[in-house]
Amino acid sequence: MKIISDIQELRDHLRGQNRASFVPTMGNLHEGHLSLMRLARQHGDPVVASIFVNRLQFGPNEDFDSYPRTMQADIDKLEKEGVYILFAPTERDLYPQPQEYRVDPPQQLGDILEGEFRPGFFKGVCTVVLKLLSCVQPKVAVFGKKDYQQLMIIRQMTKQFALPVDIIPGETIRAQDGLALSSRNGYLSPDERAEAPQLQKLLQEVREQVLNLNVRDTSAIEQIEKDAIAKLTGRGWQPDYIAIRQRSDLAPSNNQSLEAGEPLVILTAAKLGKTRLIDNLEI
Ligand code: AMP
Repeated sequence: MKIISDIQELRDHLRGQNRASFVPTMGNLHEGHLSLMRLARQHGDPVVASIFVNRLQFGPNEDFDSYPRTMQADIDKLEKEGVYILFAPTERDLYPQPQEYRVDPPQQLGDILEGEFRPGFFKGVCTVVLKLLSCVQPKVAVFGKKDYQQLMIIRQMTKQFALPVDIIPGETIRAQDGLALSSRNGYLSPDERAEAPQLQKLLQEVREQVLNLNVRDTSAIEQIEKDAIAKLTGRGWQPDYIAIRQRSDLAPSNNQSLEAGEPLVILTAAKLGKTRLIDNLEI
């Protein structure tokens, strides 16, 4: 595997490749990331991965400094997956000048849910993803459904900018007990780790409640959301949101769309101690 930090050197190595598939990450790789590498291999060749902890997407009080950085272990894992190039730029490589041009996603998608609780997050994500796509110029890029809203925003961005790349979604990989794998799980104490799978359990209960409704209307949906938030709070969590939304645009459904059987997804973010976890479940 070639490990490259310089944009020009990356371009030199990829010259003439028009079937590359790309998996951007922030490192501290786990099975979830590696499943995306395997998916990428099915959709193109060579596979290019990136590791870059993107300062632009972290808020001032978030964990940019403490975000786990485990470069050597990550390299070993990527080697085993047959990744051809690891693009691991430094901040100077990727942002040689302050990144003053940024991609601002539309409010109705970028300022809800994660965007409401992490102002500027998706602006930082879109900006770095656009830049990484411009560096790698892959035919396909793979993103996890674990970050459901992010996947949707990136899809829309590539569509609206007519970028010549297909966005491929990867399923969420979980621990045996149901907890979605995440680099941030490493922050959990043993007690918190034991409690953490309750988040996915709750989403499954919410799904059952929605499926069992006699009449699906907005007030019933809102009541299920409120009950779920109360339940999680009662177990000692601090939920940011538990939201049952339309899969198509992540907006709250209305009675008409519910009646028409519009597909739904439950999205959640909640803090357990100091660790903020996110998860989702399609209904
Ligand atoms: P990150 O390193 O957290 O920026 O994630 C890099 C990519 O891996 C993103 O597309 C994530 O959605 C994806 N990802 C993170 N966790 C998982 C998981 N448990 N299963 C599948 N994909 C994941």
